[in-house]
Amino acid sequence: MSVKLLPLDNFLNSFGNAMHNRMDLSPYYGHWYQCACGGEHVMDSRTSLVLQGYWKVMAICPEDPTYFTNIKVQMFMMVKFKGFKSLCGTRINTAEDQQLLMTVVDQLK
Ligand SMILES: [Zn+2]
Repeated sequence: MSVKLLPLDNFLNSFGNAMHNRMDLSPYYGHWYQCACGGEHVMDSRTSLVLQGYWKVMAICPEDPTYFTNIKVQMFMMVKFKGFKSLCGTRINTAEDQQLLMTVVDQLK
């Protein structure tokens, strides 16, 4: 099962009200997530998280930084971690998309 790739604007919208990432995912390090690149990676201290939505984080692929994934942090009753679920992804392959992403991230709180 691969992660669905969306155009950048749709991908960004999938986060809802996004902000700079403040979620501490260290309790869940060592769990794997599916990446937009088609591979799977382990979440750890080297994972680059750009921003967050509600229980969602945007991760940059550690192997090909043109791929970004919207990863849902699945919880039971807000307390018990149930795993990562990749909702969608995007690939930044134009200067225009790169600029849009940087503009959005710069304007977040
Ligand atoms: Zn990847």
